[in-house]
Amino acid sequence: MLEGVPSAFNFTTMKLFYTSLAFLFIGLLACGASQESQTTQPEENSTVAVVNPTLDTSILSIAYLTGKFEPAGHVGFVKIEAKYSDGSEMWLRKEAYEAFLKMHAAALKDGINLRIISATRNFYRQKQIWEAKWTGTRKVEGKDLSVALPKAGERAYKILEYSSMPGTSRHHWGTDIDLNNLEPSWFKSGEGAKIYAWLDAHANEFGFCQPYTKKGEDRPFGYNEEHWHWSYVPISKPLTEFARQNLTNDMIEGFKGAEAAGEIDVVGKYVLGVGGRCL
Ligand SMILES: [Zn+2]
Repeated sequence: MLEGVPSAFNFTTMKLFYTSLAFLFIGLLACGASQESQTTQPEENSTVAVVNPTLDTSILSIAYLTGKFEPAGHVGFVKIEAKYSDGSEMWLRKEAYEAFLKMHAAALKDGINLRIISATRNFYRQKQIWEAKWTGTRKVEGKDLSVALPKAGERAYKILEYSSMPGTSRHHWGTDIDLNNLEPSWFKSGEGAKIYAWLDAHANEFGFCQPYTKKGEDRPFGYNEEHWHWSYVPISKPLTEFARQNLTNDMIEGFKGAEAAGEIDVVGKYVLGVGGRCL
């Protein structure tokens, strides 16, 4: 019996030894696998990580990009205080709003009063605007476009001079605002010119860029120049990059006139037709 003790001991020790080895091997495999997933994960979104490491990456989806959500009460959105707007209910992403408040305070010191006249508009709101123009319920330059421009492509181009196609607007994102006035001529002289000069010189210090700069060599396509439209770069830039990689013209659908999206290349020419510091 006494002689049997060591052999039983040896057997148990060996069993323990091999079991430990097996666990060690499994452990190493698991460790290797998790290291692999940790190293490949950030590479997929490297542009995003560089631009804004604190970005809520759950917004990098086609549904969000195309505005198919309700901003009122959406996580990450806040209501704009009436004193900064024209009084109507408007919403912005919290970070964009906080940056705007800082910019507003700095501008005020220089005698500039920035007012938000449009902020987040989701797909469904944009669809109402677009379809009213598409069907002729709302006249464009005094014309019923459904009669004046029966060809889908031509009618879409005309509406695009003033309004985005549903699913393609930067206003879907909660990062973009229209300031003070929507008339190009208003920004050419007097108060308008003073406001634009201030924004052009300082908006980037607060994270804002002008996506629709003067059309030319560096921005050959898309909307005409919009002095009033400003975009919060730390969030809108990753969304623009996400659109470049994932959004296609056939995803722009669900409204009257959507058949023109491919012909126009609304994603390539309009969604990505931005310039200046927004890229
Ligand atoms: Zn705008």
